[in-house]
Amino acid sequence: MIDIGANLAHDSFDADRGAVLARAQAAGLEAIVVTGSNGQSNEQALRLARAHPGFLYATAGLHPHHAADWDETLAARIAELAREPQVVALGECGLDYFRNFAPHQAQRRAFLAQLGLAVEAGKPVFLHQRDAHADFLPILRDYRRALGGCVVHCFTDSAQALEDYLALDCYIGITGWICDERRGQGLRALTPRIPAARLLVETDAPYLLPRTLQPAPKQRRNEPAFLSWVVRAVAQARGEDPTAVAGYTAANARRLFRLPAVRAA
Ligand SMILES: [Zn+2]
Repeated sequence: MIDIGANLAHDSFDADRGAVLARAQAAGLEAIVVTGSNGQSNEQALRLARAHPGFLYATAGLHPHHAADWDETLAARIAELAREPQVVALGECGLDYFRNFAPHQAQRRAFLAQLGLAVEAGKPVFLHQRDAHADFLPILRDYRRALGGCVVHCFTDSAQALEDYLALDCYIGITGWICDERRGQGLRALTPRIPAARLLVETDAPYLLPRTLQPAPKQRRNEPAFLSWVVRAVAQARGEDPTAVAGYTAANARRLFRLPAVRAA
């Protein structure tokens, strides 16, 4: 299994990050892509990837929530990080009109700039879109041809949005959202429509603890070791074997992020 999105730079992991990584390995994770989402987490994601070669990889970008922070200094630093071999994608970047933590115009500006950096660096993009498909799609479409690859992470949108992303040959990341009895209904219905070759799984830890997880951890924090619960829910929705889903999603992750085929010792 490969967790393509875990926010391991998050401070909720500060006290026990080593134990979290040990549990992830024990749970059968082959690799984890650590999400960078602002100036600080980008640096820490890279530090983590360097400390755990072959197991941890990093992204570098600015989440739409922080889009107001976009400036020349950050742009230059992300461009620099994008050249690091451990940084396997730009992002997370995109648009979030659900929380609206940053003005839409600032979000669009930071998103466009990061797509440009991804094209320059020749690296894939890790995309975030929530309640913003109408604005997000034309921007992505404009850049799609020039971009290497892209994943719409934590997909929770409509059938139409899914169709639009698949038409642009995007990978689709599924989180523990699918394990939510009520909220995940729509996603469970759509998951069988994703071609096996375009499906990825992720925890988005520490967020989105799978609600099916037994026993539920006391602190309600999600971690990569719980990825198997996402895999199981995806497999069930698709009428497939969890081991098969784990295998082909890991192969997809290696293809998209160009990870080495065999983990370094
Ligand atoms: Zn996200």
